[in-house]
Amino acid sequence: MSAPERIEGARVGVIGLARSGTAVARLLAERGARVYASDAERRDETRGSAAALLAAGIDVEIGGHDRGRLAACDWIVVSPGVPPSAPILLDPAIAGRPIYSEIEVASWLAAAPIAAITGTNGKTTTTALLGAIAREGGLDVAVAGNIGEAFSAAVRERRTVDWYVLEVSSFQLARIATFRPRVAVVLNVAPDHLDVYPDLEAYVADKRRILENMGPEDDLVLNREDPVVADFAGDARAGPALHWFDRTGNLAAKAGTGATADSPRRGAAVVDGWIALVDEPGEGRILPVDRLGIPGAHNVQNALAATAAAARRGVGPEAIARALATFPGVPHRLETVAEEDGVRFVNDSKATNVESTVVAIEAFDAPLVVILGGRHKGSPYARLLPGLEARARRVLAIGEAADRIAGELGGVVDVEVAGTLERAVERAREIARPGDVVLLSPACSSYDQFENYERRGDAFRDLARRAVCPPGGAR
Ligand code: ADP
Repeated sequence: MSAPERIEGARVGVIGLARSGTAVARLLAERGARVYASDAERRDETRGSAAALLAAGIDVEIGGHDRGRLAACDWIVVSPGVPPSAPILLDPAIAGRPIYSEIEVASWLAAAPIAAITGTNGKTTTTALLGAIAREGGLDVAVAGNIGEAFSAAVRERRTVDWYVLEVSSFQLARIATFRPRVAVVLNVAPDHLDVYPDLEAYVADKRRILENMGPEDDLVLNREDPVVADFAGDARAGPALHWFDRTGNLAAKAGTGATADSPRRGAAVVDGWIALVDEPGEGRILPVDRLGIPGAHNVQNALAATAAAARRGVGPEAIARALATFPGVPHRLETVAEEDGVRFVNDSKATNVESTVVAIEAFDAPLVVILGGRHKGSPYARLLPGLEARARRVLAIGEAADRIAGELGGVVDVEVAGTLERAVERAREIARPGDVVLLSPACSSYDQFENYERRGDAFRDLARRAVCPPGGAR
């Protein structure tokens, strides 16, 4: 892969010192760049990153940026966590420099091909699953990106792998130039991050960029059930080979999308209750859907997507089947954390948008006590109503968005403002009856009351375990 920029001896600015910023600063310094890394924040974590970079001999500043120094850089890397509205990026002297995302820069230095997974929901699950399938098939893969370690860290530490399997966000895609996955999966596109993007079109436009450098020898795996994603086929016509996944088993072109009657009908689908490959290497039945290790109809999509991508990379059907059956899922995604007296507590803290909470609610037949809320991200909650009406015994609303949720849903379903997660779990234990599921699937970000969704999920796990088994309690 040829880089659009010189690295050795170049002056490079890195903006944002979270996981990926720190990793790319180290990677570039190792490859001979003169790096100036800075972050507007001065949190404990940022201090830790800064100390590590200083120790590695890299120039670091926290609590602000030296705009003169950044403006004098040959080019700049911006971390995905730095919003486009950050004052430093709006500064004309900085905005005029070439600016790249971390995955773009890491891809210049990656010696192995890339499989990239994007979409609004299911990225982490599908990336981890594709990694597990590839390993089961005997490939040496590094799973990285938004999941686990940063791509730059994988490029530094895992140089001899067969594949990099990357979870890629729209923020990372926003500033690519030559980033070219040899296999790309697009799962779905739903309204998200509307606090950062001006509108849905701008968000979709960034997702679409995943395929802009792909060529005819590359493979693009698209969700035929999602009209926005299926429409990517139109852009791809001159580029990568198309493959589809669809739970209904129908891989034919769909009206109103970029797919045409002559689009190939190949990929992964559910056929007679089986995950199956159609007109792909390893064609045929792979595994009965009810033997999938991960629950819910949405995970069938994730499994189909990973199956199609793995088959393209030469993993055989037996290895795919073994991995699909044994993959345990990822924490904070429909994770059962406690169970007692027939009441199951399920942690889906990763559901930080309305769409992912819709699918979480649909994954259950049992009556639900649903904990919603946190920091509002801009989409209305009405999409939750059909599922909630069918299944929810009660909604417990927490965090900054609690009153808004009560206002938008309260006329139709039973909503109680519980305020904190602690109080919500306490109330849930009182309300839930045997056979019920207490589901934390907030449809909101966690930043009002927690550092991140993992901490929120960890807190829920602890609270749920204490609720079913209080320390020294009477139960
Ligand atoms: P991401 O990394 O894209 O946020 P995750 O795999 O972490 O995705 O899943 C986040 C949440 O999104 C899950 O808890 C689930 O509720 C929902 N989800 C997962 N897969 C899908 C899918 N294929 N379609 C819709 N929603 C999904």
